[in-house]
Amino acid sequence: MTDDDEGSAEYRRILAENLRYVEAFDRSALTAAPLSGLAVLACMDARLDVEEALGLRTGDAHIIRNAGGLATDDAIRSLIISQHLLGTNEVLVIGHTGCGLLGADEAALRDRMTAETGQRLPVEFGSFRDIDDSVRAQVERLRTHPWIRKVPVHGLVFEVETGRLYEIA
Ligand SMILES: [Zn+2]
Repeated sequence: MTDDDEGSAEYRRILAENLRYVEAFDRSALTAAPLSGLAVLACMDARLDVEEALGLRTGDAHIIRNAGGLATDDAIRSLIISQHLLGTNEVLVIGHTGCGLLGADEAALRDRMTAETGQRLPVEFGSFRDIDDSVRAQVERLRTHPWIRKVPVHGLVFEVETGRLYEIA
């Protein structure tokens, strides 16, 4: 892949792919409120295709993703909008086996970033020692947050080896 002023070959492929998408696009009647009433908070891991794994289609759900699938202040910001402005009434938190944050050395990562950039920043990456415990902690934070509605909040772990979802909270 070569990079130039017009972006990588992959970026140009994506723009061309979108033109094909537009030709077949038939979802202009969808409204912003998710049809299933679901909001999903999941890790950004590329092996976890949330729509495919859960049988969701365009328009069905809000999918909020970050490294680790953590209930960060920003994820909660999105969930508040999802619930209070767009009417979702059930939450799934999805972690997964083989997560990059599992056992990650935060201090080493901060040192590496400092060495690469010359800037030391107090960024917390949210590493954890056990995926089940991490998902339970995210679920607990959402269940007890005063601005998150008292709706069902489920905790699941996606097994990247099999594609199976395990309920753990
Ligand atoms: Zn992950």
